[in-house]
Amino acid sequence: MNPDIERLLELQIVIQASGPQTPARTNREKELREAVQPSLLSYFDRQLKGRGRAVAKVEHGVCGACHMRLPLSVNAALAREDNVVLCETCGCYLLISTQEDEERRQAFQSRRLERIRRSARVIRA
Ligand SMILES: [Zn+2]
Repeated sequence: MNPDIERLLELQIVIQASGPQTPARTNREKELREAVQPSLLSYFDRQLKGRGRAVAKVEHGVCGACHMRLPLSVNAALAREDNVVLCETCGCYLLISTQEDEERRQAFQSRRLERIRRSARVIRA
């Protein structure tokens, strides 16, 4: 998963947190803004202003913001490490949860092993 999207999720949480705007909060917001690619940041700000949400976590293949099931192509794109992927329905940046990411990696590994095993059988036959 793209580290900038993780930063944007934290930025969204910092911006939307209730309570007074403390200096620590202002500093953290500044730090995060400086760390993220400007093009990603400007989309983030537009989306957050317009929709009230700019980053969504993916849980079990569903967008955490609009709760629409994501197409397989989107899930496949998310599995690639540095991809920045948007929800086609609500336009949020998508972030896969670490646990789900791990499960996906393991599933991918076991599918690959299965394929290797199968092709090995073919060679033997
Ligand atoms: Zn969505």
